[in-house]
Amino acid sequence: MPTLATTHSLNNYPRLSITNYRDQLRQAGKANKIDLNYKYRNQSYSYSISLTKTACNYGNYRYWWLCPNCSKRVSILYCAGAYVCRHCIGANYGSQLQQPIDRLFSRADAIRQRLGWQSGIAYGNQGRPKHMHFTTYYKLVTEHDRLVQKICGATMQMIENNKGRASYER
Ligand SMILES: [Zn+2]
Repeated sequence: MPTLATTHSLNNYPRLSITNYRDQLRQAGKANKIDLNYKYRNQSYSYSISLTKTACNYGNYRYWWLCPNCSKRVSILYCAGAYVCRHCIGANYGSQLQQPIDRLFSRADAIRQRLGWQSGIAYGNQGRPKHMHFTTYYKLVTEHDRLVQKICGATMQMIENNKGRASYER
């Protein structure tokens, strides 16, 4: 049975791990930032990301990114245009894209529940409940189908967006 994801995955974003810079940082000695130059969705980005370090064994240091947006100490940043930490990606994504889709899913499921249908739009139309009036039934089905169309549109948009991200990663 096909399922539509209702929660986004951080895997959808190009990532930047501090461990990729380990050798470079070791040679640089006292590095406190990394300069970035890249293109993302036809836009050029050029800026530097601040670093911090914590002491570990044998007098070595472990480096961390300081998220350009919230200054949290993290080992991985995710590209949403600029690189930010997972907390900032979550906040950004949640308000702009994911929440509306989640809302559509839960509204569709609320209707499915009234119709006595199994939860999840992938299960399709499961018929009119015996005791439900035709008028009510068609009203609910119409509303349900409208939501399904919206969800499909939004999901396609998300897949398109992720394609852009994936090609950037290559
Ligand atoms: Zn952040």
